[in-house]
Amino acid sequence: MYKSKSVRRKIAVVRGVDFIYRIACVPENFTDYGSNLLYFFNFVASTSKDSELRKTARRMSKERFHHWHRDHRSLPRNPDADTLLDFVLGCHAAQRMGIRNSALKRRLAAAVPRFQAEEYLWFDPLTEPPPTDVPEGCDCGAANERGRKRCRGCKRALEMMSRYRVWCVALTAAYCGECYGIPLGARYSEVLKWLPVMRPYRGREHDKNPDFFHAVYAVTHLVYTLNDYGVYQLSPRWLPDEYEFLKSSLGDAIALDDPDMVGEFLDSLMAFGLSFRHPSMRGGVEYLLSQQNPDGSWGDPEGDVYTRYHTTWAVVDGLREYNWRGERLKFPRLKPLLERWAE
Ligand SMILES: [Zn+2]
Repeated sequence: MYKSKSVRRKIAVVRGVDFIYRIACVPENFTDYGSNLLYFFNFVASTSKDSELRKTARRMSKERFHHWHRDHRSLPRNPDADTLLDFVLGCHAAQRMGIRNSALKRRLAAAVPRFQAEEYLWFDPLTEPPPTDVPEGCDCGAANERGRKRCRGCKRALEMMSRYRVWCVALTAAYCGECYGIPLGARYSEVLKWLPVMRPYRGREHDKNPDFFHAVYAVTHLVYTLNDYGVYQLSPRWLPDEYEFLKSSLGDAIALDDPDMVGEFLDSLMAFGLSFRHPSMRGGVEYLLSQQNPDGSWGDPEGDVYTRYHTTWAVVDGLREYNWRGERLKFPRLKPLLERWAE
């Protein structure tokens, strides 16, 4: 039977959300990625246009938060920076759901400043732009500090992270800390202020640009942190370079056969006002609908847990419709800065 594309999108989204819920219900997955997964259900519950979908995600969100809270009632003794970051993320997701724990928040507010920005954001935005000497994680599991060329565990040569990846991670962490009211070593505006040095964003250049992949994710996460993850639309006039970069590179993401990236392109372009009727958006939707796995997920069914749910999350966000609350920035005081940089 023929189904319209909007009905096919709706069905695909529900199956994708169900898949992520099944992943989140596996105890070891939830132990590793619980705070991140809480955001997913919360964003779908709070920003979707479809009221049935909102209701479903709210139910999942509440049920999963109940489990998260059971294991995160109080801070462990002498928490490290990663533990504090995880607590801030989980508590911020809970706060977005209207759940507050002021005793825990007071303890976090006292503990978070014990570490510097570099421990949370991988660099200190007060003193330098996103750097190029942060090593990628090594397969052997050893932790390696900035500047190291060889792994301290296995002595293999280390790969360095793209500075776009460093910036992307810092933008999201700083956004979460700022929204929760406990900055993680630096304010969001201090991470954002490096935007002019990250421009221009080079395209794929026949795979000659090694930064292309991470530049895409930096730009999409710039959009998410500025629009409160799907709450507001952004004027292309505030971010002309980013808007042009996304519009001109969507075809590359489809050619790369990368549903995660295509999903991020679509929701970011929607944030800039493009609709599913736009010709290049239509191609992206058709591509994503054709790529769903029988279990409701997208991406490599053999991938690790994080990749499996992140790809499905990105596609769900690229295929669902948003209940936009106007054209606005999450932090309106940043508008004059964006306008100055756009001149
Ligand atoms: Zn190693």
